[in-house]
Amino acid sequence: MQVIGTKIVVLGTGGTIAGSSARAGDNVGYRAGERTVQSLLDALPVAQGQPPLAWVAEQIAQIDSKDADASFWSQLHARCREHLQDERVRGIVVAHGTDTLEETAWLLAETLPATKPLVLTCAMRPATAASPDGPQNLLDAVALASDARALGVSVVCAGAVHAPRHVQKMSPYRVDAFGSGDAGPTGWMEEGRLRLVHPWPPARSVGAEPPQTLPADPGAWPWVEIVLSHASACGRQVDALVSAGVRGIVVAGTGNGTLHHALEVALLRAQEAGVAVRVSTRCPLGVVVGRPAHGLPLADGLSPVKARISLLLELMRSSPTP
Ligand code: ASP
Repeated sequence: MQVIGTKIVVLGTGGTIAGSSARAGDNVGYRAGERTVQSLLDALPVAQGQPPLAWVAEQIAQIDSKDADASFWSQLHARCREHLQDERVRGIVVAHGTDTLEETAWLLAETLPATKPLVLTCAMRPATAASPDGPQNLLDAVALASDARALGVSVVCAGAVHAPRHVQKMSPYRVDAFGSGDAGPTGWMEEGRLRLVHPWPPARSVGAEPPQTLPADPGAWPWVEIVLSHASACGRQVDALVSAGVRGIVVAGTGNGTLHHALEVALLRAQEAGVAVRVSTRCPLGVVVGRPAHGLPLADGLSPVKARISLLLELMRSSPTP
């Protein structure tokens, strides 16, 4: 597929990349989402993309991504969708907070056509840090978004390019905060060039119609929660969720998808009551192998937070919330 267009659209959503601290050089005491994406682009050491490419800033939101929600996602999704349809746009960059970046990446990957590069990037240090990481990440993201091989959603941070299925925030502090677990990064950005170490992950729907639109009304999103299996876990939390009207529960199981017996009983009860239950693992590496004895459906090798998004989308497709 030929990627056309000469414009890279950089969508600002807030995050540490747009953060600033009162004390110059403070890497942790700052407020996320203070600087505009236009000012971040203006501060880059190069004035513009390599001709004939140009970048254009658009502010979508100004949030700390720990507070991401349905209305943020539906707005971002709608803008990405419009830009993907604009033939002047070659690729999209989303400057995002690190905390929920993997959730947004998975949501966009599962709901947008992979017809152009759509690159999420971020920073671990605010724009006011003595040595901020945002500028290089932005430059890498713009370069990746210009690369015709990079169709669909990807994430770039600290020079590593990650696929949405595998990417996960691993460190609360390190500049190279993201990893792709067993899979490893798809490639590396080096002086503006992508060096692939794995074939580019197959696009979910190259050239196809968008698989899903997202409701603009947050009330139309099904209620899906995550619970954790741990020592001394009990089923009361699950029972309370069911009574309150939850539609889906993802459980982060111990080890190979096993569950504390008290939690297991409550989850089986929830399933019996019509709540969709999916089992993931709280282990950061690998996937659940085989079928745990409890027989509850597995989350297709996804981490709990991504399994939650897949279940949300599944519930939206199967029976939209009235
Ligand atoms: N709390 C910030 C956010 O996710 C963290 C970051 O961007 O690194 O927006």
